[in-house]
Amino acid sequence: MKDIFCHIIDGEIPSNIIYEDDDVIAILDISQATKGHTLVIPKAHYDNFLSCPMEIMHKVYDVAQRIGQAEMSVLGAKGVNILTNVGEPAGQSVPHFHVHVIPRYLGGEGGFQITMASHDANSFDLPRLAMQIKEGLE
Ligand code: 5GP
Repeated sequence: MKDIFCHIIDGEIPSNIIYEDDDVIAILDISQATKGHTLVIPKAHYDNFLSCPMEIMHKVYDVAQRIGQAEMSVLGAKGVNILTNVGEPAGQSVPHFHVHVIPRYLGGEGGFQITMASHDANSFDLPRLAMQIKEGLE
């Protein structure tokens, strides 16, 4: 079954397109966490960042970088958040890989905040944790 981004890519649902080539499309997010909030999406369906092949990944992030630069130069953003959510626990609501490019301004933007809880590092066995993840790479 097609997800909402597949419908947008196929032109079945309207969107505000910023960029498009054979592999990638970039559109304004309908929710606009801040002014200019953009989604960069591969046209082929991959569920998320973790299942996207490297060649397509490079194309997606290349477009994301250029859009971030444009948001800085044209919209007057003073910073940009580049982020992607993987899985519902991480906040992914559309199961089609996409990268958010969220311009940040000096004050007054309201709708978007990232906060990371800071745990006491002593509550984890950090050397063991590092080893576990390292082993997962092999
Ligand atoms: P996620 O929560 O999966 O990381 O991000 C999905 C994003 O897609 C949300 O920010 C949401 O606002 C956006 N979105 C959902 N439906 C549509 C739509 O129909 N059009 C556009 N342009 N964005 C959408």
